[in-house]
Amino acid sequence: MPALTEIAAGIYVATSEFMLTTTTVVAGPDCSCLVIDPAVTVAELTALAAALDSRGLRPVVAWSTHPHWDHVLWHASLGKVPRFAAPAAVAVLDADAVRDATILEMEESAPGHDHSLFGRLTPLPGGAVPWDGPRAEVIVHDAHAPGHGAVFFPDAGVLVAGDMCSDVEIPLLDMRADDPLGDYRAGLSRLGAVTGVRRVVPGHGHAGDNAGFRGRLAADSAYLDALARGESFGDPRITEDWLRAEHDKQVRYYRR
Ligand SMILES: [Zn+2]
Repeated sequence: MPALTEIAAGIYVATSEFMLTTTTVVAGPDCSCLVIDPAVTVAELTALAAALDSRGLRPVVAWSTHPHWDHVLWHASLGKVPRFAAPAAVAVLDADAVRDATILEMEESAPGHDHSLFGRLTPLPGGAVPWDGPRAEVIVHDAHAPGHGAVFFPDAGVLVAGDMCSDVEIPLLDMRADDPLGDYRAGLSRLGAVTGVRRVVPGHGHAGDNAGFRGRLAADSAYLDALARGESFGDPRITEDWLRAEHDKQVRYYRR
């Protein structure tokens, strides 16, 4: 686990070597902290726990942005704390077949995690993450995955976007939904309506400033527009084979 980088007062981001997956930590009162999407490998999670310990921070609550394997991980060294997610996200993972398949995906890429801690989430109906630290407003939509919950910290102007607003990934639609494109547009407009964003943290990629945030929203909208037209098109963020494959799948879907 690389160092925790303080991107705003009391808000830290660590970036995994695995797909530039980000972990966000927010410091609260009395050495408490909120952990969002701790990632990814067992070694990285134990190093994260050690890094928090060395700063005198103790996790008291956690949030998972969405029910994909790399966002619902945990390690015993982070402590036993309530871990929340949006109700639709929890419902997805509560289905045994989905849970088993998701664990299988995890084992392929990041083996060795304690399965009993995997995806053990409590539904939070909305509002804000319950804790005594900086207000953490939850913004729930269904783009990318059911019950995708971004978290906005209005005091710091930091938006933890989950797997949206990335500088290294195209919009990845939830192709199992009835209206993947409509859901994604709705999610983007929810995020675009947030005022006072000074920093955006994507689930994979690099933190951006307000101009970067607006630029990513525009790039994602342009991507969706081209997809809706059934065009074959490129996006500078398609730099890896798996992204090319996902892109091709999405283009094919909307060309039907
Ligand atoms: Zn995801």
